[in-house]
Amino acid sequence: MTAVPYHLNLVGGEWVDGERRPNTGAARPDEVVSEYARAGRETARAAIEAARGAQPDWARQPVGYRMELLDRVGSAILDRVEELAVLLAREEGKLLGEARGEVTRAGQTFRYYAHQLLQPSGEVYPSTRDRVHAEVRRRPLGVIGIITPWNYPMAIPAWKVAPALAYGNTVVLKPAELVPASAGELARIITAAGLPPGVFNLVMGAGGEVGDELLTSTGVDGISFTGSTGTGAQVAHQCLTHGNKRFQLEMGGKNPLVVLDDAELAVAVRCALDGSFFSSGQRCTASSRLIVQAGIHDRFVAALAEATDALRVGDPLDPTSQLGPVVSPGQLAQNLDYVRVGLAEGARVVAGGAHRPDEGQFMRPTLFAGARNDMRLAREEIFGPVACVIRVDDLDEAIDVANDTPYGLSAGIVTGSLSAAERFKRDARAGIVSVNLPTAGTELHLPFGGTGASNHGPREQGGYARDFYSVPVTCYTGW
Ligand code: NAD
Repeated sequence: MTAVPYHLNLVGGEWVDGERRPNTGAARPDEVVSEYARAGRETARAAIEAARGAQPDWARQPVGYRMELLDRVGSAILDRVEELAVLLAREEGKLLGEARGEVTRAGQTFRYYAHQLLQPSGEVYPSTRDRVHAEVRRRPLGVIGIITPWNYPMAIPAWKVAPALAYGNTVVLKPAELVPASAGELARIITAAGLPPGVFNLVMGAGGEVGDELLTSTGVDGISFTGSTGTGAQVAHQCLTHGNKRFQLEMGGKNPLVVLDDAELAVAVRCALDGSFFSSGQRCTASSRLIVQAGIHDRFVAALAEATDALRVGDPLDPTSQLGPVVSPGQLAQNLDYVRVGLAEGARVVAGGAHRPDEGQFMRPTLFAGARNDMRLAREEIFGPVACVIRVDDLDEAIDVANDTPYGLSAGIVTGSLSAAERFKRDARAGIVSVNLPTAGTELHLPFGGTGASNHGPREQGGYARDFYSVPVTCYTGW
């Protein structure tokens, strides 16, 4: 048997062992992609202490120094796109092409924040008093605990770690347990780039232990969390009851894509196919509710069902595959449960639906028609390649249905009408609105986040990330 990489925790610049665990791949659950050292509370405590110790010096370094190091991390990631993408595809099951895109995004994100450091910082105000100078400065928040999900194992850690470090904070990263190798490689790259010990720490372990230690420790000043809405509620509770920590939550979605009668059919099908099923539907911005006007409804359902059935589900490393596996046996079981729920609620499967045990985690994308927005199928986040079509009469009803959800991350419309598009941008209750594009495409320099049960706290990404990772300090100087 060939040796697989063994990923250790990183604490204060030292590689720290833990309980040796196999990390199995999504496409072949019997294939060990790597091993990792599973840590517990003690390692988390040591990492927090290391981050505390390193923070003042890191914050005091000239901007040019932090900029150089972050740029080096970004460049090192971009130099290794192919290798890291293969790892990500094997570990998480994303198609190699999608994995390349994700790794590239991670590298670009580090470089983006390196250069953000040259943007103006703080503001000068006129004072109402004579001979007083009034200004708002920014200081780092301090030690940041970063808790991430499995579905973007490179990009999400990058879009939290890079701004946290850029604005002078130090970090303890706790990745999802399904994807330790991606985080382990990121830690190796950050270490090789020459960051001082303790500035970036990695602790791999259970949410209820390592994650909870970050939430309850007095040594942590802020928590940036991405994951499910249920876990997010626990994160909020712990942060509020343990030192009133600042926290930022990016959570689940049940995103609508509206298709109006005047939509170009091919565009509508392309947006739905990508938004609902690509990355096996495992995107928080996936469009799992397709809200379709009566006049185009039957043509749209027929065309989308045909395109869905034609998708080639297969090995993520095979360039002809269009959909990979779902991430884990647990996720597959949840997806198939929702297929049963949808059928029991009276919706009709028009593509996919069936699954044989010998297909492993390769689930066929499944499209339901005849759904209603009050069905569980349409209300609960499934996080798999399952979408449902809801028929509506007009734009008013479409917007009402789109907004009738506890979530509010991303919403899309496909229409040829400028006024319908403008109306939707105004009235859709979501943090991201797309017109004639899939709900799932976002760019790294623009704010990312939702409303309702999808979000709490300031936006991530772009210049907006500064709002979470730094604290405004109002200064008055008499002269
Ligand atoms: P999850 O909530 O199960 O886990 C997320 C992270 O929280 C993991 O690292 C986990 O170990 C940790 N965790 C679990 N329990 C914890 C606890 N009690 N205390 C501290 N940490 C704990 O989510 P997941 O299954 O990894 O990811 C899928 C979810 O993430 C979906 O709901 C998806 O919509 C969401 N997501 C949201 C966004 C966004 O930006 N809005 C992006 C990607 C994924």
